[in-house]
Amino acid sequence: MSASIQAKLPDGTVIELESGATALELARAIGPGLAKAAVAAVVDGEVVELSRPLPEESEVRLLTDRDPEALDVLRHSAAHVLATAVREVIPEAGIGFGPAIDGGFYYDFDVPEPFTPEQLEAFEKRMADVAGEGQPFERQVVSKAEAEELFSDDPLKLERLAEFSDDEVISVYRNGPFLDLCRGPHVPNTGSLKHFRLLSAAGAYWRGDEKRQMLQRIYGTAFFKKQDLEDHLHRLEEAKRRDHRVLGKHLDLFSIQEEVGPGLVLWHPNGGRIRHLVEDFLKKTLIEHGYELVFTPHVTQEELYRISGHLEVFQEGLWPVMEDGGDRFRMKPMNCPHHFMIYRAQTHSYRDLPLRYAELGTCYRYERSGTLHGMLRVRSFTQDDAHIFIREDQIEEEYNRLLDLEDYLLKVFGYEYRTALSTRPEKAIGDAAIYDAATERLGSVLKARGLDFEVDEGGGAFYGPKVDILVTDALGREWQGGTFQLDFLMPQRFDLQYVGADNQRHNVVVVHRTLLGSMERFIGGLIEHYGGAFPLWLAPEQVRVLPVSEPSAQAAGALVEELQAAGFRASLDDRDTLGYRIRSGETQKVPYLAIIGEREAEAGTVAVRKRGAEEKQVVMDRSAFVERLAEEVRTRALD
Ligand SMILES: [Zn+2]
Ligand SMILES: [Zn+2]
Repeated sequence: MSASIQAKLPDGTVIELESGATALELARAIGPGLAKAAVAAVVDGEVVELSRPLPEESEVRLLTDRDPEALDVLRHSAAHVLATAVREVIPEAGIGFGPAIDGGFYYDFDVPEPFTPEQLEAFEKRMADVAGEGQPFERQVVSKAEAEELFSDDPLKLERLAEFSDDEVISVYRNGPFLDLCRGPHVPNTGSLKHFRLLSAAGAYWRGDEKRQMLQRIYGTAFFKKQDLEDHLHRLEEAKRRDHRVLGKHLDLFSIQEEVGPGLVLWHPNGGRIRHLVEDFLKKTLIEHGYELVFTPHVTQEELYRISGHLEVFQEGLWPVMEDGGDRFRMKPMNCPHHFMIYRAQTHSYRDLPLRYAELGTCYRYERSGTLHGMLRVRSFTQDDAHIFIREDQIEEEYNRLLDLEDYLLKVFGYEYRTALSTRPEKAIGDAAIYDAATERLGSVLKARGLDFEVDEGGGAFYGPKVDILVTDALGREWQGGTFQLDFLMPQRFDLQYVGADNQRHNVVVVHRTLLGSMERFIGGLIEHYGGAFPLWLAPEQVRVLPVSEPSAQAAGALVEELQAAGFRASLDDRDTLGYRIRSGETQKVPYLAIIGEREAEAGTVAVRKRGAEEKQVVMDRSAFVERLAEEVRTRALD
């Protein structure tokens, strides 16, 4: 057997096959069950379809519906099926790209009108037919000239083809009547697509460029299992219900108004109350943990950002220049240089370090209007920012402190999280050995804490490695939480030094760190995490007192006063009927409704309805109620 190939499986077994054998034949050689379950294969690190011949020697992992990579293959294949359906209904529709994305897939079409919901329904039906037909996905390698011929009616595909070099391996895929320019891979045939749904349609610029034509994008999702699709659709519903823009309006927390400007948030009293409570808690905590609070202006000489290098690398994020005579000013995009200037204003000894300067610093960044999103992507934000000045030998201790503090804060707000370590990118400036040694030290800190962290190879900044905290919210979605960024470069640029025990001047190491991120993003995220039902300590309105009828109004008023005197945010609602008041309190997500009728007024009790509690109503002594509230606030209890 001279012509044979060897495929090495993940467990180390090597299987010998005849030359030209495919991944599917490998699966068959292992067993008929696997051959049936296999969806695609990973060959030498690359996901390919089962019909691809294997190279002479390779490492192969077969993918079944249990592997996350297989889901992407299914979803991308679903995009082809969608395009097949759209082309059958609208043969002249131009086709753009159709990738798998987080949570599903999309496909862009060049059509004169936006799609209607009725059209989406029709496409979905047609997709089910295409899937039912089990059309195989057939790969064909073509020359550039052949490809141009095949897609001569498709200007978008021709534009893409024009970017390929002449020796590029160009593949096209056919399923049934539909042909697409695509690198693959796909599932063996359209029959794998059983559980899918088209979700929405929206305009999208060709290649994301605002200057190009607007295409119509259809979003969809697909899963291998029916239950997974149902769970996903349920989560999408829940996400819609918790959308911070919807809740922000409903609960009167914030607004963004055209007259003020896109991406510029107005905090209403209710949102302002929440923000104040978060900031107040944060500042007190920071002071307890050895931070100093500093304040810096919103406008700054551009020169400062020339020294820091941001003028060069961060040009697009800066607001335009404001000229004053010969001086050029910018809105502040970040607080770092200001904190450096504060540090530099004094001489520091090795004994003074670490020095921790914290600021809830408002910054301004130019974001394209198309990328803005409620409170989560804005043009003005207040960063929970700090710069910590340490000696090189203090890196481990300071990172341990940061991780402790972050752990404490995230638990208070009820977030789970994981950590990631970003290592040296190619564009790094300065001594690679120092960078790598520091990265290793950060890795050791994480390991010593027993954290199961992810390594983001090359994901570090050009001036130093960082530790990222990724939080998971109540819907299982991940957000960027804290970032602890080590910096060896800025101390050189800004001359940040300390006098050592040897009486010599040495450069400090800077840690740029945020624990919560910006107040806008953090509180926007909290609104969705809690679904608007803020725990008692953060609720803008904590207790609403409802008299049953006229005779109990006085007792109700007295309870409101008593609660306010004890420091609680309480109000009286005597509008309309009791039923109306209860419903109103519930839809406003007030944590406690305290109902007082004549019986309660006489007995000095109150009928308490706790938001979301199983037991509808509990009668208790007023003093016990106040104590319970105090305890819940003191412990910052989550619901
Ligand atoms: Zn494809
Ligand atoms: Zn910074």
